[in-house]
Amino acid sequence: MGAAGWHQDPRPLLRPAPDLDLAALDRGATPGWDAGKDAAEEYVVERGRLLSELQERLFADGRTGGRRAVLLVVQGLDTAGKGGIVRHVIGMVDPQGVALRAFGVPTAEERRHHYLWRVRRALPGPGLIGVFDRSHYEDVLVARVEGLVKEWVWSRRYAEINRFEREIVDGGTTVVKVALLVSRDEQGVRLMERLDRPDKRWKWNPGDVDTRAKWDAYQQAYADVFTHTSTDAAPWHVVPADKKWYARLAVTELLTQALVDLDLDWPRPSWRLETQKHRLAATMSAGALATAERKAAEKLPEVARAEAEFDEAVAAAADVGGDDGGGSGRPAGWA
Ligand code: ATP
Repeated sequence: MGAAGWHQDPRPLLRPAPDLDLAALDRGATPGWDAGKDAAEEYVVERGRLLSELQERLFADGRTGGRRAVLLVVQGLDTAGKGGIVRHVIGMVDPQGVALRAFGVPTAEERRHHYLWRVRRALPGPGLIGVFDRSHYEDVLVARVEGLVKEWVWSRRYAEINRFEREIVDGGTTVVKVALLVSRDEQGVRLMERLDRPDKRWKWNPGDVDTRAKWDAYQQAYADVFTHTSTDAAPWHVVPADKKWYARLAVTELLTQALVDLDLDWPRPSWRLETQKHRLAATMSAGALATAERKAAEKLPEVARAEAEFDEAVAAAADVGGDDGGGSGRPAGWA
């Protein structure tokens, strides 16, 4: 870990407590972090490097028969910062290794199918980090608040979603669920900015004010989502999002930790190294062979150093929050 870091492991801190009171949560809080914005931004850059290496290993694993994948589900009301998080996460890793899907109003074709149909089709394949900008949770949020389906329909979906996610996890995908919670005041400010700033005006949707008017109903719908669908297999993380830098820091950490937990190593080749080297050498000129040997001699110490640094970073990441952190945090409450 660098100079500044988490004073408490954010994972348990961000888990919704069974008696979670959304109205009482301070959405400008920074649970687990008291080193401020600049330190957070530095930390995220450091984490980005680790994340990128972990992602490459995940990708390599997927290319060689591994079944593992990671799915980041990002939920939040308008202006909560979903888009920023998604861009940011993708910006830190090789875009080839990311499967991004934004879920809008279902198309005519999607409406002909079960609500999980489009979600299943968007799941990340082996080796990929899937990112959902909104998700199947819209089917128990907007569908409920806007009365798109009857109560008996949406209320049965929680158990169905839990089974669905259990199935995904059993198939080898780690599911990281993040809800970005912005305060009503901050949402107002961010929406007004869309009107005030010519470069943001394209984002304005008159319907956002109608959604905002249903604030309490949405809060209730979110609270019920946390109560019913934060499972051991796929727990929720409730992230205060009034400070964009904190939301970014927290999501980066959650994703990094999910990858660290996979304990990824480079895949073992299914062929013998010496045999393959001999075969290739037999096709090369003496000059080219000498060049290859020289390059290996130059490069290998550097590679070994990078590997050692990676191992160190992974070990440090596994100890996030230090002695007073590890697992002892109280769930959301964000005290
Ligand atoms: P965002 O606000 O996420 O940046 P946007 O305003 O650009 O997105 P879209 O991405 O086109 O709009 O669609 C998002 C809208 O789709 C949201 O209003 C969301 O509630 C709605 N939506 C998503 N899933 C569903 C669903 N299953 N049923 C009904 N509406 C849905």
